[in-house]
Amino acid sequence: MLIFEKSRTGRHLTLLPKCDVPIVMPEEKDTRTLDLHLPELSENDISRHYTELEKKSRGVNDGFYPLGSCTMKYNPRINEDMAALSGFTEIHPLQPQSTVQGCMEVFKTAEYYLTEITGMDHMTFQPAAGAHGEFTGILLIKAYHTSRGDTKRNKIIVPDSAHGTNPATAAMAGYKIINIDSREDGCVDIDKLREVVGEDTAGLMLTNPNTVGLFDKNILQITKIVHEAGGLCYYDGANLNAVMGTVRPGDMGFDVVHLNLHKTFSTPHGGGGPGSGAVGCKEILAPFLPKDMVEGEVGKYHFVNAPQTIGRVKEFYGNFLVVVRALTYCMTLGKEGIPEASSHAVLNANYMMNRLKDLYDMAYDEVCMHEFVMGLEGLKKETGVSAMDIAKGLLDNGIHPPTMYFPLIVHEALMVEPTETESKEILDEAIEVFRKLYHDAKTAAESLHMAPVSTPIGRLDEVGAARNPILRHKF
Ligand SMILES: *Cc1c(COP(=O)(O)O)cnc(C)c1O
Repeated sequence: MLIFEKSRTGRHLTLLPKCDVPIVMPEEKDTRTLDLHLPELSENDISRHYTELEKKSRGVNDGFYPLGSCTMKYNPRINEDMAALSGFTEIHPLQPQSTVQGCMEVFKTAEYYLTEITGMDHMTFQPAAGAHGEFTGILLIKAYHTSRGDTKRNKIIVPDSAHGTNPATAAMAGYKIINIDSREDGCVDIDKLREVVGEDTAGLMLTNPNTVGLFDKNILQITKIVHEAGGLCYYDGANLNAVMGTVRPGDMGFDVVHLNLHKTFSTPHGGGGPGSGAVGCKEILAPFLPKDMVEGEVGKYHFVNAPQTIGRVKEFYGNFLVVVRALTYCMTLGKEGIPEASSHAVLNANYMMNRLKDLYDMAYDEVCMHEFVMGLEGLKKETGVSAMDIAKGLLDNGIHPPTMYFPLIVHEALMVEPTETESKEILDEAIEVFRKLYHDAKTAAESLHMAPVSTPIGRLDEVGAARNPILRHKF
């Protein structure tokens, strides 16, 4: 039931004392012409309403949540404690800089940690999401070429194993996308790359580990080819979970990188934010960084604008509390803990993959990074049970489905990312569920077509929902 349907005219909770100043009404021209439909409920009603909704939803705290490409790890509570400190929450972006030195130190310290992890020289925290970070990074590349009068570079190369936001970003920045296919083994085709680079190459956008969960073995060669053609290299580091503290994009030859602090660096996400797509860059791109970079030393920090700044990409300083969480996470784990988290993420993914590959076809039969992709095309041909059916069947077994039908280059894909925060017991349970569903597919396919049957809402008409979405309540 919607909150509007629970509303009763006149029901409310009086929190404020009676008004003791004259009431001034806006002028006629400024008053609203439509009724303001606000639900009217008591505090008790509201509290129960949201608790009811909370119970119907699924999150990391309800159980295994192997949503590939999203890093749904457990987020340590200490991050939340730090982000809730009043010194961080009860400030205003227009406050004098001398009164927010601690917050500026957070930016500077987070920049120190994350440039160390990425092998970059600078980092801005303004972008609010991964795709926003990509856009910022590509604008840096564009500003770099423009500043050199090198204006014929109008193409960005994007391998087909890149995240979908990569070509979208390049297009939004006004570039033509040159798509290159992957080889059989899921890596970039070096010969094809050599064919397409040239005087019109502005840069390359690469997701590594790529969307099929593989680390490209030719990474140094790839960045070298692009650099030799005069282009720059962009690293989509949204999913740094597999490599943080082990290898650095900067050392692989990349000039600019974004991180999804709301994935790898443990801010809860889903439901649309807030996030942070922090962007790191090498010295050559520093003159173009967004406005308001923090400079100086403890107690004497101030904001500066890079000489040829691309301007502001978001109001003020980005989602600051996400940066507080990321910094807390880095400081808690430390130099030893960060690579350890990554190696556990990789171990967990390989463990699950190896315990499932006798039944399920793996898209790439290789050592994977933090996630692996199964291709259920064969199972579907044989039994009629699709990746969607298996995903829905998982819901009836208390497991959130993996990412489905992505990456597009694998048919009937299920992309599983267990993360480092799950124990062997949880992984074993999940493996048993996957194995059981495989046998169900062979013996009782019909039951899987009907799944889920134990969730608040059953199988949705997804086409109908996409074609005729009902997004408003009709009063
Ligand atoms: C999630 C993701 C993005 C986009 O991040 P948003 O915060 O959703 O905009 C980009 N690239 C990769 C590889 C991702 O996994």
